Amino acid sequence: MPSKHSLSSPVIAELNLDALRANLAKVRKLAPGSKILAVIKADGYGHGLLRVARALTASDGFAVARVEEGIQLRRAGIAHRIVVLQGYTNQEEYQAHLTHRLEPVIHSLSQLDLLAGHPPQGLRPWLKLDTGMHRLGLSQEAFDVALSHLAQCKPQVMTHLACADETRNPFTSRQLAVFEQIVRPLELPISIANSAAILAWPRTHADWVRPGLMLYGISPFTGRTGTELGLQPVMTLKSRIIAIKSIPDGAAVGYGGAWTARRPTRLGIVSAGYGDGYPREITPGTQVLIGHDRVPVIARVSMDMLTVDLTDFPGITEGRQVTLWGEDLPVEEIATRGGTIPYTLVCGVTPRVHRIETGTHYGTNESRL
Ligand SMILES: *Cc1c(COP(=O)(O)O)cnc(C)c1O
Repeated sequence: MPSKHSLSSPVIAELNLDALRANLAKVRKLAPGSKILAVIKADGYGHGLLRVARALTASDGFAVARVEEGIQLRRAGIAHRIVVLQGYTNQEEYQAHLTHRLEPVIHSLSQLDLLAGHPPQGLRPWLKLDTGMHRLGLSQEAFDVALSHLAQCKPQVMTHLACADETRNPFTSRQLAVFEQIVRPLELPISIANSAAILAWPRTHADWVRPGLMLYGISPFTGRTGTELGLQPVMTLKSRIIAIKSIPDGAAVGYGGAWTARRPTRLGIVSAGYGDGYPREITPGTQVLIGHDRVPVIARVSMDMLTVDLTDFPGITEGRQVTLWGEDLPVEEIATRGGTIPYTLVCGVTPRVHRIETGTHYGTNESRL
């Protein structure tokens, strides 16, 4: 079905904002006693920072990775609490936290130096304890120092789990034991859980949960889809067949002639490639969805195009819409086929792809935000 963009960009990312809100409601149901810090870093996991923030006003706050993302939210009028997961690393970023009422994560003692002795009124820091992930976070000794500097701010305390998506991995319990031992006596608000922990480790829910991936309807667990977990996919990446041709048995297709026909073959050329964020690394057997048909992708994915084998689908004609991932074709499946994780696929949809909002409250409404 031609859209009004059919001349400029056949590739669209449909963003179902009803699904986004339903996934937030699912988090509420799973963690009824916790407040929700909706994680919308990296342009809302590729779904659009402001679009996602405006759709998720029912959250209790937002988390972003960097100061700049927090400023963007404030400039757009978002009044929610905003936590900056990397905090500040210099004077300018520190000032920006104060100016824009951003809540920094304190993960290193050098961040305390910028407080020049004592924290200003209104600073709402989150102290991050390293319980074993060994990326950002304070050691126990540093944590004690930071806490003594910041006690009067009544900081929140957080940690991040390295292996929560591996539901049988004992490492999570070890991280939790370290956290409990240090933090339990303090009676400060606590945050531990990412999506995987919200779904698989109920005892991590605590005062604040920090869902990211699951809000977008995607499963953090290898081998399971968001739909199987009761989530609804938010992004559906679509394009169209722009050409159909027949080639003889033995003809090679695409760069490197890497795929050879073993029968007379009817090819469909789809306008979508790694220049749109579709993974070049997919293995044989990867499929697209055309109507109700799952159609195999063949040959190498190039920058602007990929090729499908239509030999067994004589009814599929030029101009047909093609789903690359999303509704009825889990992005988790394409990620597995591409040797990656669904996070990288949704974050990697490139700017030339038109974003189109769907959902009952919004109608269908194109924007590039
Ligand atoms: C990204 C992030 C999250 C969200 O993780 P998901 O796996 O997407 O749910 C939570 N906490 C921190 C510190 C993060 O960096």
